[in-house]
Amino acid sequence: MPELPEVETVKKGIEKFIGNAEILDVIVNTYQLRTPIDDNFKNLICSARISHYRRKGKYLIIDLSNNYSLICHLGMSGHIKTLLKKPQNIEKHDHILIQTTNGWLVFNDPRRFGYISAVLTSKLDELPFLTKLGIDPFDKNFCGNVLYKKLQHRKTAIKPALLNQSIISGIGNIYASEILFAAGIHPLRPSCNLTVSECRKLAKNIRLILQQAIDNGGSTLHNYQQPDGSLGYFQNFHCVYNKTGQHCPKCSCKNKINGGIRKIVQDGRSTFFCPVKQK
Ligand SMILES: [Zn+2]
Repeated sequence: MPELPEVETVKKGIEKFIGNAEILDVIVNTYQLRTPIDDNFKNLICSARISHYRRKGKYLIIDLSNNYSLICHLGMSGHIKTLLKKPQNIEKHDHILIQTTNGWLVFNDPRRFGYISAVLTSKLDELPFLTKLGIDPFDKNFCGNVLYKKLQHRKTAIKPALLNQSIISGIGNIYASEILFAAGIHPLRPSCNLTVSECRKLAKNIRLILQQAIDNGGSTLHNYQQPDGSLGYFQNFHCVYNKTGQHCPKCSCKNKINGGIRKIVQDGRSTFFCPVKQK
């Protein structure tokens, strides 16, 4: 499932390829995504020029010259391809094709949990799913003190708290495990038990891990790919995710001695951690 680093990578890839192009045409092959595509989608964005690219949590926002913005969430399995020419063969899950003066954008989503819509830019701040988003880890105000204030009254364990998009936006299941490992914090710790200094360490590692993932083009597990079709590489740097029983870097944990990296399930999601390193 695309998380903040993958969405940031997609944003950068599209921006580099399409830039401030004009939208010439829109082909909608499937209106029936989980949130259906608006009948008016094509009319709202055709002939507009792309003016700005941004990201909020896991949402990609493309501002247009006609006072509308394209807003997109990749859901569970969505990805956006950039192509110089119209694809000769439309793939099965190519739901939307956007022709611009600099090439084509193709929104493909096998599981259809993704979301794409055109909204008046001035009304973006009123969209319920955006207003309830918590602070972005790359917001200039994000720091350990802010994190401490957000966590100090929460009894929920820190791992599900990191996934709660109303506290911090953009972290998903892969990076939550990697971040807690990097910070040396046990995923079952109640959020309210974290000290200020642990929250500072956590905030620092949230940014560090996410930035390293962005620098490596995200993590390719399942079907994620960058807009130009290349894969992400950060999965090669995962320390604990999906590594049950293995030993983690620079640690004494070993499968035969203490079980190595453990897997537990919290709120229905897998968590991976090292019981030796994470306290
Ligand atoms: Zn270990």
